[in-house]
Formats: sequence, C-alpha cells, structure tokens
Amino acid sequence: MNRPTGLWPQEEARFLPGEGPHPTTPVAETKGSAKDFISLVVPFYNEGEGVRYFHEAIVPIMEQIPGIVFEVVCVDDGSRDRTLEFLLEVAESDSRFRVLELSRNFGKEAALTSGIDAARGDAIIPIDADLQDPPEIIPLLIEEWRKGAEMVLAHRSDRRSDTFMKRKTAELFYRLHNRLSNVKVPENVGDFRLMDRVVVDSLKQLPERQRFMKGLFTWVGFRTVSVSYVRKPRKTGSSKLSAWKLWNFALEGITSFSTAPLRVWTYIGSIGALFAFFYGSFIAVRTIVFGVDVPGYASLLVSILFIGSLQLISVGVLGEYIGRIYIETKQRPTYIVRKVHQKTQDGRPSM
Ligand code: UDP
Ligand code: MG
Repeated sequence: MNRPTGLWPQEEARFLPGEGPHPTTPVAETKGSAKDFISLVVPFYNEGEGVRYFHEAIVPIMEQIPGIVFEVVCVDDGSRDRTLEFLLEVAESDSRFRVLELSRNFGKEAALTSGIDAARGDAIIPIDADLQDPPEIIPLLIEEWRKGAEMVLAHRSDRRSDTFMKRKTAELFYRLHNRLSNVKVPENVGDFRLMDRVVVDSLKQLPERQRFMKGLFTWVGFRTVSVSYVRKPRKTGSSKLSAWKLWNFALEGITSFSTAPLRVWTYIGSIGALFAFFYGSFIAVRTIVFGVDVPGYASLLVSILFIGSLQLISVGVLGEYIGRIYIETKQRPTYIVRKVHQKTQDGRPSM
C-alpha cells in the first residue's frame, strides 16, 4: 500500500512505519519482462454526453493492440450532470471500466492523482475525456515503451484547436517557468503520456498535496522519449478550465518548482537601496554647494509610492509561498473517494 496523497473509504490518512509519505531512500525498482497490462486514467467533470463517445472511441483502438490487456480507470470528479450515471452504465456493460467516484469536485490534478493511485497497470496513460488527446496514438506510445522508454511523452505539434490567447499565454508560461525553475517542463506536452510502473511508483512517493502534475512528472526523471500529435478540438461540451483557473494553475506551477520569485526581492531591494544612497549623496552635495532650494513634494511622493508598492508586491509574493506552506502543513488528503464502482467476474459490484 502506498497511497500517500489521497483518502480512500475506510482508510485513515496515517501511515505504518516504513511506508510513510517520506521514504528515506526512494528507490525505484525495475520490474521483470512481462509487460502487457495498460491502465488508462480518465478524469471526467461534467462530460455527460462525452462518456459514450469516449467508450466507443477507446475500446476498438485498445482491442487491436496485440498482446495487451487493459483497464480504464474513470474518475468522476464531482460532476453535477449525468456523467456518473453514464459512466456506471458503461462499467456495467464492460468490466474493464472501473469508476472512481470522488466526494466533490477536486480539480483535474487531484482527479488524475486519484486515478493514478487506483490504476494497477504495468504502464499508465492519463488521457482527457473529451478526446482532445487522440487515442489513435496510444499504440505508438506503447511501441516506444516496449522498446525500453520509461516515459513516453505525447507532444502537441499543432495547437491550432486552442484559441490564440490560450496558445500565447501557454507559451509565455512555459518560457517563464523554465527560466525560473530547475525542473524544465517540456513545452506543449500535456498530461497525455505513457508512464511505466517505475515512474508511477516514484510519483506516488511525492507527498505534496498541491500537485502540479506536469512538474512532478518531469521531476521524477527516467528515460523519456516523445511522440508528436496534432491536438484536435473538443468532441463534446466545453472547456472546464477558465482563464482564472489557468492563471492559478500557472502560479501553482511556478511556486511549486521555483523560489526565484522569493529571492528576486533581495536584488530589487539592494538595487533600490544603492540608488537611494547615490541619490541621497547627490542631494546632500547639492544642498552644501547651492543651499536649500524649493522642497520637491512631487519627487518625494513618487518615491514613497514607488517604494511602498514594491513592498506590497513582495509581501504578496511571500504570501503566495506562506499560503502554500499553510496548506501543506494541514496534511489534508488531495482527494476523497466516495465509492469505487467495479464489476467483479461474477457480476457483483465490489467494494
Ligand atoms: N477535468 C476534471 N476536473 C476539473 C476540470 C476538468 O476532471 O475540475 C477534466 C475534464 O473532464 C477533461 C480534462 O480534465 O477530461 C481536461 O479538461 P478540459 O478539456 O476542460 O481542459 P482543456 O482541454 O480545455 O485544457
Ligand atoms: Mg479539453
């Protein structure tokens, strides 16, 4: 048992000695050769009409891959429409589909984490429910994996289906993030990828509650290759990630993987102090040489306002980090599972 990040039914968020969220030596074990069990992890949030399309699209593709057994872990992330009902219908008719019902909407990152924790495959592929990540390239991912890659990234060679604003802000985010952080998140790579069991087990050892998955995926490392694809428009429904959510997501990414915004204030402060020193000296010399002139309220006010606002910004930056420390110290689980819906061989639902 190693589920440091979520709370499952009847399971306490405590750990037995030696299995805790802080292993002393996180060693990833490489497994034997028989690799044939693939888990797809799919977060669903108000994707009602998308469920059927997803099922219809994914099954034929997975079935035609030779030598593969698969399961689909569908996470219902507190949907308010009929998503859960449709998911249960699918799971009832197809025992390869398991449904994880979260107790409320926890957001995509938490939903993914819960699905990854529940997945049992030798390799795990997180994929969006809206079919924007084309299932047709799953065979390519598996091929690379069989050749020995531990992580196979699906790289979006074309994001024309996203709006101009989304493309530009995404580009800016990646550039800023990678400049500030030591963990370089590959550009135009989403959560859609294949991860070997060793990668997943390492990922599960990361105890943080606020999970910027793209950063964590990169942080764990491992032998990585990538495959390109063209991102398509959504099949049904509309995007669940508003501009405000994406902005918070970007802040999450940067503050999770970089302390540069904290350190930069030392330099800004030093430069300001140096500037103030020279300016002060200049005024002193000028007063000695030319005597007192008309007092300048304007320059005084401007400098006070300027320094004041710099201080407010830096307090705000400190606040961002302290807020995150506060949330982490509470040690709340990333998600709560209300129920796992799964059909066993004899037709009875388990758990
Ligand atoms: N999603 C989720 N919880 C949320 C928001 C989104 O599980 O709070 C799921 C959503 O159902 C979809 C995936 O995350 O399967 C990607 O969401 P979306 O398509 O809205 O994002 P976009 O493709 O616009 O970036
Ligand atoms: Mg989408």
